[in-house]
Amino acid sequence: MKETVEHAVREFAKVYGGEPQWIAAAPGRVNLIGEHTDYNDGFVMPMAIERYTVIAAAPARDAGRITLRSTANHEVFTIELGAALKPLGKGKWANYAVGVVAGFLAYGLRLEGFDALVHSNVPLGGGLSSSAALEVATATLLEAITGHTLVPVDKALLCQKAEHEFAGMPCGIMDQFVSVMGQEDQLLLLDCRTRKTELVPLTDPAVEVLIINTNVKHELTGSEYSARRKQCETAAKALGVVSLRDATLETLEQGRTKMEEVVYRRARHVISEIQRTILAAEGVRTSGWPAVGRLMYASHDSLRDDYEVSCAELDAVVAIARGIGSDGGMIGCRMTGGGFGGCAVALVKKAAVDDIKKKIAAGYKKRTGIEATMFVSRPAAGATVLKA
Ligand code: ADP
Ligand code: MG
Repeated sequence: MKETVEHAVREFAKVYGGEPQWIAAAPGRVNLIGEHTDYNDGFVMPMAIERYTVIAAAPARDAGRITLRSTANHEVFTIELGAALKPLGKGKWANYAVGVVAGFLAYGLRLEGFDALVHSNVPLGGGLSSSAALEVATATLLEAITGHTLVPVDKALLCQKAEHEFAGMPCGIMDQFVSVMGQEDQLLLLDCRTRKTELVPLTDPAVEVLIINTNVKHELTGSEYSARRKQCETAAKALGVVSLRDATLETLEQGRTKMEEVVYRRARHVISEIQRTILAAEGVRTSGWPAVGRLMYASHDSLRDDYEVSCAELDAVVAIARGIGSDGGMIGCRMTGGGFGGCAVALVKKAAVDDIKKKIAAGYKKRTGIEATMFVSRPAAGATVLKA
């Protein structure tokens, strides 16, 4: 994180002059298992990663204005604090930050103008939730500026609301929760119905989390995501339950004729994935790695075949991982995040990391013609104020 912060401070000086008065950082995340379950009241088990979005800021000369810049995007936004804040337009990067500012103002907190610079080493749009990292970094910065610390759950919900209302993305609660509440060496088992969290230690020194970025993004995510959400609601309605959390594979089979085939398959993914997540948490707790690995592969297959959110490149990575197998130090691998590109996540034996990286790089290049990027990460701590 040190380098990312130093870079942010240098860039801040370049574009605004002087030093930032406040600096906050929030991590991206990787989801070990529990995909597309969060908006079905299910379980997810992500961890924060050692990749951060840093936001540095100082009071503005004009107390009525917020200026937002990013090293990842040339478009600069100036926000007038007098009037009610509105979304900046579809696809504008600063929506995530402005939505969070709007949330703070809705709390009745007073805010004076500031100049802010965002810098991140979370890949943007890669399924590691740079969007939540940006929201949570902004919320953490605002805590530093106002001196008002939010309850972690409220902070995460405020950020989720910003993504819904300003970025137009009807996401679940996972990303913001783990970016706020992540802890070193712990996975976060989150019950998306009760919003209760449980830490699951990932401390086995022989095991590493390897993240593999396919470096592709098929531009389907928004529309397909909404379509999946609707299909889940349709399935729940047909089964007469509030959400798919309340269904079992048995009740699904009994209700199979009440829904279209595709809706049935979507529901089968969600219901089985919720079960897999609970089992995987138990597996990690007991270092039952072969079982955890099988659950990860099963999750991938279900996302590919039943939920249909994978793509050729993610499937290639998982096929290569299967080929490496447990003899080669590969415990398990699956796509992570919304799908249609982005990253895969693997649990690997530490002693085999370098070898596995080489095999995946070569195999992926051969199958797709694309260079993958890879890094390992320990479960990291959630958002922090670095300067106040
Ligand atoms: P993911 O969250 O998986 O990275 P999203 O599509 O949800 O993908 O969010 C990516 C978007 O978030 C970017 O296109 C951009 O609008 C915004 N964003 C995230 N981080 C930054 C950043 N550091 N600078 C500018 N915009 C960012
Ligand atoms: Mg996102």
